[in-house]
Amino acid sequence: MTDNDWKEKLTPEQYRVLREGGTETPGTGKYVDFAEDGMYHCAACGRALFKSDTKYESTIPGLIGWPAFSEAAANDAVELKSDDSLGMARTEVVCKKCGSHLGHLFDDPSSPNGKHYCINSVCLDFAPKDNKK
Ligand code: FE
Repeated sequence: MTDNDWKEKLTPEQYRVLREGGTETPGTGKYVDFAEDGMYHCAACGRALFKSDTKYESTIPGLIGWPAFSEAAANDAVELKSDDSLGMARTEVVCKKCGSHLGHLFDDPSSPNGKHYCINSVCLDFAPKDNKK
């Protein structure tokens, strides 16, 4: 995909976050207060990224306002990169298939396993679980 391909495929807000490493305004994303059963996919390429049963509500100020997951859906779902932008040492989370920015990984004592994948809603497409299977 070229940069122009991404601009055509994605909304301007998706492009800003997924392809330019932006962050959506806290509390505004469609999956912040959302608890259905299913799978969250990459909004850019469709790869399965996070399962709904790993989504939780963090209680840490500063980490509230985006969807929070304790782990990725599979080993080949996401990739972690060091990110020193904005004067902070953080771990960036990107889609392992298409390289799009998703959010950041933090330590979080309120997480079931101590890990907090802080992911922008605009980077995700939710698919409900198929109960017929
Ligand atoms: Fe992707």
